[in-house]
Amino acid sequence: MITSIRNNYLDYFNIITGTLVWYYYICKREVWLMSHYIVPNQADERILLGKIISENSYGREKREIRIKNLVLDIISTKNENIIVAEVKKSSRYIKSATMQVKFYIWQLKQLGIKNIIGELRIPKEKKKIEIYLTPKDEIELKKVLEDIKNIILRPQPELPREQKYCRLCGYNEFCWI
Ligand code: SF4
Repeated sequence: MITSIRNNYLDYFNIITGTLVWYYYICKREVWLMSHYIVPNQADERILLGKIISENSYGREKREIRIKNLVLDIISTKNENIIVAEVKKSSRYIKSATMQVKFYIWQLKQLGIKNIIGELRIPKEKKKIEIYLTPKDEIELKKVLEDIKNIILRPQPELPREQKYCRLCGYNEFCWI
């Protein structure tokens, strides 16, 4: 089972999603679990809250767009620019969320799409943050993708390491009970 999954992952640049980039900056064990289809507890009230906020915000504008391995919350235009927005329930994981949006911009750029501005939208906090991709970000993202590939190809996840995010994590029971 693991072998067939691993073989599929050899074309990893096409399967690494924004969600895995998001997890990468929070917990590398989560990257392995999620990439091996071990999904977090969907009944967890924080996961439900995130889904409710995502599904009920920006009604007219919101439509999930899939482009290859990318699942974009919102894509729209403003003047000459294309806006790619990600909706989050809070700014708690701001670094993760920012890098997730930068990953989308970077991937779209590689598909030949230009003039992209990223946005992080946090409706509960009434925040809209513009995100831009820099050459330094591109170097970092290349390394991140390589790291994610190596994590996925490991036969098992790293052991849980207690950190501040564990309390709010959907894998909490899986890791600690
Ligand atoms: S509970 Fe903690 S160690 Fe386990 S996946 Fe979540 S953040 Fe990582």
